[in-house]
Amino acid sequence: MKELSIQASNHLYKVHIGSGLRHSIGSLIKGSYPQILIITDSEVAPLYLEDVKQSFSEGRVDTAVIPAGEQSKCMHQYEQLLTACIENGLDRNSLVVALGGGVVGDLAGFVAATYMRGIDYIQVPTTILAHDSSVGGKVAINHEQGKNMIGCFYSPTQVLYDIETLRTLPFYEIRSGYAEIVKHGCLDNPGLFKDVISRKLTSDIQEEVLIDHLLQGIAIKSAIVEQDEKEKGVRKYLNLGHTLGHAIESEAGYGRLTHGEAVAIGLLFAMYVSREKLGADMPITELYDWLEQHGYPLDALKSLNSSHLIARMKKDKKSSAGIVNMVLLQKLGEPTMMEFQDQELNDLLNHFQEE
Ligand code: NAD
Ligand code: MG
Repeated sequence: MKELSIQASNHLYKVHIGSGLRHSIGSLIKGSYPQILIITDSEVAPLYLEDVKQSFSEGRVDTAVIPAGEQSKCMHQYEQLLTACIENGLDRNSLVVALGGGVVGDLAGFVAATYMRGIDYIQVPTTILAHDSSVGGKVAINHEQGKNMIGCFYSPTQVLYDIETLRTLPFYEIRSGYAEIVKHGCLDNPGLFKDVISRKLTSDIQEEVLIDHLLQGIAIKSAIVEQDEKEKGVRKYLNLGHTLGHAIESEAGYGRLTHGEAVAIGLLFAMYVSREKLGADMPITELYDWLEQHGYPLDALKSLNSSHLIARMKKDKKSSAGIVNMVLLQKLGEPTMMEFQDQELNDLLNHFQEE
């Protein structure tokens, strides 16, 4: 089992990564909780819920299962889960367990953050993408008009990552998670970027390779978050590829593309803009070829209206007064921010699509 510590503003928490951890969640958690609510989704539940439930030898354990998919990160599911907390009698000494991908993590984390003004929760990530979402303490639900519009900063007390659960992921979810690993490499570790895009992703990636990639991704993210938990400065860099990525996700309709697929297109665009505006030497062709080879939906932009996308980008949390703030790269490993007006962004987007 590998271990990593992360300093949040109020507490230090550990990330454990290992094979088969789901069978020992109950014994690995710090502290004792008389009452536990495991929140998971309809796809993860039949696979792993019973294992995690069985791992608790003390405390009353209740479960709540939400429909799988991004659409569940909404007001309605949020309210249903709060009702489940109340009906199961959870109090301030209770624990929420978020068992699943980023959707369950963000939603269950937001429930834990707001129920009775905040109770403890742990993350038990089951997707590759969740190496990103389970650390750093951002929890949220979506609004019709924008992703993650309602949320807060609330770190888990532990992250227990069972690598074995990743074996049941469909290939497009592996691809989706790897987009964030590629992003982390672009931000702070060109070696990781190059290593990933020199490989052919498959459904049975070697365990040591996967653990290594996940740990490197988490280390990059946590180093940034430790410097700037509330996103006043450097944490903004983690949004590389997300300004356009989020706009694509919401414009296409949540759930049409995976988060990582949309981010991958956003990453390519960020590299393109970095080359056009900063003269940066970017491995655009290498990244494009690798994405294409793995079936990332690179054509998705064609069916989307540019002015709608720009309107969405202006609503992004990083934008202010209608000016879009994008993360660019001076070179691999050296992010920077740049502001854009509508027209310029529109031209860049149109030229990018032509290339
Ligand atoms: P997800 O949670 O929807 O999981 C993807 C799909 O895989 C779902 O259908 C799920 O049921 C299924 N699944 C999960 N684990 C499985 C397993 N082990 N075997 C088989 N199927 C499994 O999506 P995701 O990609 O994990 O997360 C995306 C979400 O994370 C987005 O909402 C995004 O905004 C959020 N996110 C948050 C942060 C953050 O810092 N909080 C960072 C990145 C992304
Ligand atoms: Mg993301």
